[in-house]
Amino acid sequence: MPAVITHDEFGRQVYDSLYMMIGESRDEFQAFLLGNQGPDVLFFAALHPLMMRVSQLGSRMHREQPIEALAAFREAVDAIPTVPDAVARCGAASGGATSDRIASSGTATSDASSTPSAPGAPDASTHDIARAYVQGLLCHYLLDSTLHPFIYAQQWALCDAGVEGLDRNSAHEVHAAIESELDELVLSMKRGQTIGDFDPSRKTLVANDHVLNVISALYERVAHQVFEEMLPPGAYRVSAKAYRLALRALWSPTGVKRALLGRIEEVARRYSYARAMSHRNHRIERSIFDNHDHEPWFDEDAAAQRTESFWDLYDRALAEAFIDVPEFAATSDTNAFLCRVTGGRNYNGQIAEPIIVHVE
Ligand SMILES: [Zn+2]
Ligand SMILES: [Zn+2]
Repeated sequence: MPAVITHDEFGRQVYDSLYMMIGESRDEFQAFLLGNQGPDVLFFAALHPLMMRVSQLGSRMHREQPIEALAAFREAVDAIPTVPDAVARCGAASGGATSDRIASSGTATSDASSTPSAPGAPDASTHDIARAYVQGLLCHYLLDSTLHPFIYAQQWALCDAGVEGLDRNSAHEVHAAIESELDELVLSMKRGQTIGDFDPSRKTLVANDHVLNVISALYERVAHQVFEEMLPPGAYRVSAKAYRLALRALWSPTGVKRALLGRIEEVARRYSYARAMSHRNHRIERSIFDNHDHEPWFDEDAAAQRTESFWDLYDRALAEAFIDVPEFAATSDTNAFLCRVTGGRNYNGQIAEPIIVHVE
């Protein structure tokens, strides 16, 4: 799935430096990494017959003004008492946590859908889980808004290149194919792995139901308060599970399933979205989409030519996250902080649309 690996790896890099501030328990770690997947998780509500509307909230959160929503998430965390729940702190990561250490501790990566019973009992308070999630959400915003102008530029250049049968009608599939290849690049370069040994449905989006329920409650509150939408209870939890199923369905280390999915879908569409989203099993050090040579590309929204590579932008977002994540947690003036950090840009890196509230 495009970007799931890139966002996960980005989150792990931030966690490895800031784990003491984000929280060293398994639940905080899982919540933080889920935050790094952002509102993208809600897109997968579309796979559930009763939750289709929820996926539109994911799109709105990407497109519309992000300041109010991010501020509402921070406020929602502040509204949860800091006193610990009746939680047995089992010290999942005492003695210095790192993403690899927690991931290999056995509890964090045990059955992703496990219920919170021992040894998977909650090991952090509701407040701390919510705080870690919202810190991760800011990371998602930083990476999305920094990289998207570059990805859109690649996407439009490819759609407009005059390739027969390829035009802007296929932008969605081209976008997915670019992000998918960048995921393969990140997996190769940062972890030395391919999807032959990395199943995204098991290695990403890992969280127990307790963590998912805390995040669901955050979304219900923010959707109501900022977007005036009533989410069905547990909408985020259902979406996260649907996302895992989609990742599982698209995981194709041999390529046979990818080809089959592509052929089925191409009966109805010109290009297969499923095939574009499914990662290929190869180790790569370069990609035609990484702009290694710093060729000029056009940022449509800024109406400017730029030359950064994928890694330049990834590292810039990372440097910002190291500064902004601690500040987001500590600031007493959330609005001023978010105005500075976002500059009014949405998750797509564009000057955001105002939040549109539909009065029934
Ligand atoms: Zn996103
Ligand atoms: Zn994208």
